[in-house]
Amino acid sequence: MDNTILVTGGAGFIGANFIVHFLENNTDYKVVNLDLLTYAGTLDNLVEIDNHSNYTFVQGDICDKALVEKLFKEHDFKGVIHFAAESHVDNSISGPEAFIKTNVIGTFNLLEVARQHWMSAPNLYKEGYENCRFHHISTDEVYGTLGKEGLFTEETPYAPNSPYSASKASSDMVVRSYFHTYGMNVVTTNCSNNYGPKQHNEKLIPTIIRKAITGENIPIYGDGLNVRDWLYVTDHCTGIELAYKKGIAGETYNVGGRNERNNLYIANKICELLDKMHPKVKGNYKDQITFVTDRPGHDLRYAIDATKIEDELGWKADENFETGIVKTIEWYLHKLTE
Ligand code: NAD
Repeated sequence: MDNTILVTGGAGFIGANFIVHFLENNTDYKVVNLDLLTYAGTLDNLVEIDNHSNYTFVQGDICDKALVEKLFKEHDFKGVIHFAAESHVDNSISGPEAFIKTNVIGTFNLLEVARQHWMSAPNLYKEGYENCRFHHISTDEVYGTLGKEGLFTEETPYAPNSPYSASKASSDMVVRSYFHTYGMNVVTTNCSNNYGPKQHNEKLIPTIIRKAITGENIPIYGDGLNVRDWLYVTDHCTGIELAYKKGIAGETYNVGGRNERNNLYIANKICELLDKMHPKVKGNYKDQITFVTDRPGHDLRYAIDATKIEDELGWKADENFETGIVKTIEWYLHKLTE
């Protein structure tokens, strides 16, 4: 099989959902998953494909150039789908260094090794490597914050506000430069907030569900009116697969579900569903919602205009927030209560 791809960060939330989805739909590909297994990654996310014949796991750091070179030599990758990152905004505020290392230097490292493996000169791919592609997974947070109106398009100027979004914006720029300088076949997708099975406990929706059923306060930042555009993770995975296979080299595609919801709505909705799906002995889950001091520099609103990926690549989200959240709660109830 001449189609082995490197997926980085595949033991994390989106990467794990993606690899399982991709292997199911693409029996003619082999996937090597390079993941450091930081606190955010776990092999529990990949039990479905533990013994899959087209899947290999390697524990290691994307910043370790010698390791990445060794893997390229060993597996002769024909593509890279790069998820690995430090991804939690709150952690980037308390400890930004790891974000710069992994998200910026790590991305540069992967690009550089791929370029040397695939290309002999600027704009010249080696024979047999002409279709090799580097797909960079990024976020809508690079665009900064919106007011009450407007949407992020691919033309929106970058204005990152947190060390996390600044590190992702920097990595996007390095990817962009490899297209313009070396003619490398790169594509970038900038996605809105994801939710669904396998997300780390620290993120908003798993926190709301976990705190609710353990009877703790459900913390909501500030007034709870910050808006995100929520996308169910498998919809992101189909967008990535389409952009990887059909996207135009050098282009970026915004991925978002047109599902703007504020944090308070999300907490209330989850509480209402839990009242039905996992009732409390006494009272309602909403009684546990508490407001806590806002995150410094908290962006007010993100919302994506997904017209380009919809029109040009035929992508469409299958779930809306109200359908996806039921599936998500079911998954966490199973994980947390059984
Ligand atoms: P995650 O934190 O759940 O997973 C990140 C994975 O990367 C983990 O398995 C971790 O072990 C691994 N990793 C971290 N540092 C590494 C290193 N130096 N070398 C190798 N592996 C390393 O993140 P996620 O939510 O799955 O996000 C995946 C990608 O999608 C990230 O690039 C993120 O910026 C982007 N993204 C996420 C969202 C979201 O809502 N979660 C939205 C848009 C874009």
